[in-house]
Amino acid sequence: MRTKSLKKNRINVVTLGCSKNVYDSEVLMGQLKASGKDVVHEKEGNIVVINTCGFINNAKEESVNTILEYVQKKEDGDIDKVFVTGCLSERYKPDLQKEIPNVDEYFGTTELPGLLKALGADYKHELIGERLTTTPKNYAYLKIAEGCDRPCSFCAIPLMRGKHKSTPIEDIVTEAKKLAAKGVKELILIAQDLTYYGLDIYKKRNLAELLEALVKVDGIEWIRLHYAFPTGFPMDVLEVMNREPKICNYIDIPLQHISDRILKSMRRGTTKEKTTKLLQEFRKAVPGMAIRTTLIVGYPGETEDDFQTLKQWVQDMRFERLGCFTYSHEENTHAFALEDDVPEEVKQQRANEIMEIQAQISWELNQEKIGKTFKVVIDRKEGNYFVGRTEFDSPDVDNEVLIDATKTYLKTGQFANIMITDAADFDLYGDVVK
Ligand code: SF4
Repeated sequence: MRTKSLKKNRINVVTLGCSKNVYDSEVLMGQLKASGKDVVHEKEGNIVVINTCGFINNAKEESVNTILEYVQKKEDGDIDKVFVTGCLSERYKPDLQKEIPNVDEYFGTTELPGLLKALGADYKHELIGERLTTTPKNYAYLKIAEGCDRPCSFCAIPLMRGKHKSTPIEDIVTEAKKLAAKGVKELILIAQDLTYYGLDIYKKRNLAELLEALVKVDGIEWIRLHYAFPTGFPMDVLEVMNREPKICNYIDIPLQHISDRILKSMRRGTTKEKTTKLLQEFRKAVPGMAIRTTLIVGYPGETEDDFQTLKQWVQDMRFERLGCFTYSHEENTHAFALEDDVPEEVKQQRANEIMEIQAQISWELNQEKIGKTFKVVIDRKEGNYFVGRTEFDSPDVDNEVLIDATKTYLKTGQFANIMITDAADFDLYGDVVK
């Protein structure tokens, strides 16, 4: 039954979850476009592909609700077909097929050719880097590897994304050049574990060499590192970061916890002493760098003492950027065998306490920026403000710089020197200076 409005098939890709899912949706859209398909991202279309997330309970719930929403639209005759792909589908396909049978077909995270075939398109291997980016045109995610070999007890990602697989340097550089040709100025490097890069195909941690190649790509001004891992950190990356102005003095390194007892149970392969020493080496090697981390509270067996240790450490380390999640009990992970004994309200209370500490630290660090001038990239205009970021801020998760749009004019993607005039806990305000 053809939907009322659309004459020609249009494929609407809906993305849930993390930046790696954004990347996969963009690859799918690039392939569909190359096969002459009319494809859009989260706009009207009579054929819908939902790229789901299956990481933790909240994300799974959002994915299931989104599937149900589009299946309802299909039953109402507003759309014709619904396809589901991504991590939730990879992890729970048999259950989903039974419980939500009115989806046309479910695909896993490694079944792009099959999904394209179902959409009447062919998979073209030669299309390296031919993505339809969905981010603002000045920045793009660049996935340098897929999967993960780490044994973290709480994490379901290896179940959904498989073993670590690095993309060869030459393919990544080709992709970066194509992105630069389209006006991208900032590359955000992503993987499940960025610092594991190269161990499989080059038999050594090769992130530094990849960075050396990427800084040579004309048109790219900023290169940002996300998802580093604390053990076996390739210290030569810091030397390149310090030497090369294109590499943002910024690193995202999820650390999850700091109590030795919890780190051991989480199978993180590190200790409080080693982690603290690593961060001190970061600060010595690259003065002024911004360190982002994420933590998990409420892990099985987390005592008040463990939590107090974490709280005090967050106070002492003064991270520039920090996010905190409550533990999610995920079946088929190593930790699922443990009792999920911390009540939900205690988990949430602990996450709130950590974020209160972080809001104060962020406010204090932002006060120190008043009167200083920073290179800022403009991401968008919002109301009476141009909204941008410094090299110390990643899109969607970190601080933003707000510039009064009634006093000046700036273009999206433009870099401008901004003198900070005021600061809140997670936002900065400033004016353009020549
Ligand atoms: S490194 Fe990250 S993706 Fe890999 S198992 Fe650990 S938490 Fe999961």
